[in-house]
Amino acid sequence: MKAVLLPRYGGPEVLEYVTDHPRPVVGPDQVLIHVHAASINHLDLFVREGIPALKLTLPHILGADVAGEVAQLGSDVTGFELGDRVVVNPGISCGRCEYCLAGEDSLCVDYKILGEHLPGGYAEYVAVPAQNLLPIPVDMPWAPAAAAPLVYMTAWRLLITKAKIRPGEDVLILGAGSGVSTAAIQIAKLAGCTVFTTSSIEEKLKRAKDLGADVVLNSKEMPWSKAVWELTGKRGVDVVLDHIGQATFKDSVKALRRGGRLVSPGATSGPIVELDMRYLFWRQLSVIGSTMASRREFEEVMKLVFMGRLKPVVDKVFPLEKAREAHEYVGKGEQFGKVVLSVP
Ligand SMILES: [Zn+2]
Repeated sequence: MKAVLLPRYGGPEVLEYVTDHPRPVVGPDQVLIHVHAASINHLDLFVREGIPALKLTLPHILGADVAGEVAQLGSDVTGFELGDRVVVNPGISCGRCEYCLAGEDSLCVDYKILGEHLPGGYAEYVAVPAQNLLPIPVDMPWAPAAAAPLVYMTAWRLLITKAKIRPGEDVLILGAGSGVSTAAIQIAKLAGCTVFTTSSIEEKLKRAKDLGADVVLNSKEMPWSKAVWELTGKRGVDVVLDHIGQATFKDSVKALRRGGRLVSPGATSGPIVELDMRYLFWRQLSVIGSTMASRREFEEVMKLVFMGRLKPVVDKVFPLEKAREAHEYVGKGEQFGKVVLSVP
């Protein structure tokens, strides 16, 4: 099959397009998906560069987000037919540990992400557990379907389950152009919040406004935490979604109101941050981490995507064989929303 292999860790140049990679073997509870689109996440870049604690068998295949057709059913699989159009929940859990039994799949002691711990979707075919499939509407194109799962499930759990946002609250979402941010802006609007967002690129702020953001702040022109402080009448916002980490954490804390919540699904600028504990206890702040989502949260948010109430933002589509160029493009950080690989 056609595939983009990761034979060694490094920059985009290590990605290698081949046409003769063996198709995955399908286990009894798995389904083979004929991939039509696979979207790129920042996670793919981290895995490509090599995550010290992650020991992979190389060559590896990246790609957490997949949309395609059912091409083969494992011997124990029921409920799906060949040709069914599906997206894949990229989070794979054991189903038996205390967290899985509590419905907290993404806390599973053996949690795996497609394309990170297991061969992923930068290929013509991928094998996934049947329980991770979700049928998609007949009229939904492949690219937005593949753009949705990881960022929408992540943003949904962060804002709805963890931050427990409520109508009327002020929510600050950092870095307007990221996949998680474009999902989060829409989710916070749908929940009735006032959305603040930041970017150093004016064009991204314009597009964030089109997506529903109420207040856009150019981080190149002003210290945004100060601007948020002034704009909220020296109250601060109820919630900050910070996926940037090292470069922004200190200001995120300062932008929160008394009793505010800071939620984080990652730290693209670096993981080590400085926290002034006086803000933490005196303002009674909560700092909440989250990753991925449970199967239930995945299905809740994807239902809204399928209904058209949340609209995946696709910046650009590259053919699979141009995965290297697509990674270079994502690495520059100029995109607004998601970059997708199309698989013919
Ligand atoms: Zn488990």
